[in-house]
Amino acid sequence: MSVITVAARKRIALVAHDGKKPELLQWATAHRDQLAQHELLGTGTTGKIIEEALDIPVRRYLSGPIGGDQQIGALIAECAVDVLIFFWDPLSAQPHDPDVKALLRLAVVWNIPVANNRMTADHLFSSPLMGQSYERTVPVVASASVWPRA
Ligand code: PGA
Repeated sequence: MSVITVAARKRIALVAHDGKKPELLQWATAHRDQLAQHELLGTGTTGKIIEEALDIPVRRYLSGPIGGDQQIGALIAECAVDVLIFFWDPLSAQPHDPDVKALLRLAVVWNIPVANNRMTADHLFSSPLMGQSYERTVPVVASASVWPRA
């Protein structure tokens, strides 16, 4: 285990399944000012919707079902994501279910906060820790390297 410092300006990944995109958009709109203080990234379609609606840049990766979830997971494992807002849809079957599971798993492995629904996201964003730096424990073994991104 090692400890890394998470900056006050966090790198927040936004992902929502189709059935949950309206809810994520509603939530993001309500928290626009706070989101604007951080660096945003997301899967293809979610990122596009949020960027256009909020007029805040969102670094976009592939759409979830064609690899976007795995890209976000890889970024988590590189310590390049500090917070995951992932509104997955528990009421629809997803073709990329293994990727969804893998993404959630890596978020736990790498000790980052995850919000899977609106109330959790509201509580997370009301935490004073969102605006502060934080010493985070990560599971890096002696032979592994972590490449934090700017
Ligand atoms: P999308 O991907 O933002 O490209 O729709 C999200 C997902 O299905 O994981």
